Amino acid sequence: DAEVVLVGRSNVGKSTLMRELTGHDVSTGSKPGVTRQPNHFDWAAQDFMFTDLPGFGFMSGVEDERREQIQTEIVRYLEEYADRILAGVLVLDGKSAVEIIDRHADRGEVPHDVEMFHFLREVGIEPIVAVNKMDKVDDADERLNEICDRLGLYPPWQQWREETVAPIRAKRGSIEPLLECLRTRFREEKRDDLLGFV
Ligand code: GDP
Repeated sequence: DAEVVLVGRSNVGKSTLMRELTGHDVSTGSKPGVTRQPNHFDWAAQDFMFTDLPGFGFMSGVEDERREQIQTEIVRYLEEYADRILAGVLVLDGKSAVEIIDRHADRGEVPHDVEMFHFLREVGIEPIVAVNKMDKVDDADERLNEICDRLGLYPPWQQWREETVAPIRAKRGSIEPLLECLRTRFREEKRDDLLGFV
């Protein structure tokens, strides 16, 4: 069994990305917080799948308690299936990620995205950071360096581009940098049989 999971705050574009990766519309609804179950997409007769986990972080109209529950479910899922998960794609909104991270850090909290990045590593899942909505970012290099800095990845971002940091525009179908990171990952895991999926 092999799996690639997508994690990220709600509204970062995970469903859009999932659609690009699989060619299927897997979104379960437009209301935030409705994606209760992991959203699997697998290929018949193949042991590989992409999984879209519920969005975490603030969602208007979703209570704190429900949010915590979602967070717990995500963590449990990642712990349980860590062995078969070849990559954890942390999807960020390039336009707003740094601002949100800094706001939380200023309040003395650990920002969700930063926490998730480190958590993935802790459970042995190699994180790939897909920085989405790059079409809304003016200075791409500067923004990507800031994101690296916040995640503890030594800038410049270019040195992470092959395996860890992928600027994308899911809505425009531009996800090649992410596919490149996934290919690198599969090769590292000696899973060349999976290259056909990306
Ligand atoms: P999810 O909640 O993470 O599943 O996010 P969605 O896939 O539903 O996307 C949230 C919003 O972001 C939608 O309005 C998308 O059209 C938009 N979106 C997704 N990808 C991009 C992108 O690359 N650029 C821009 N500008 N918007 C995007």
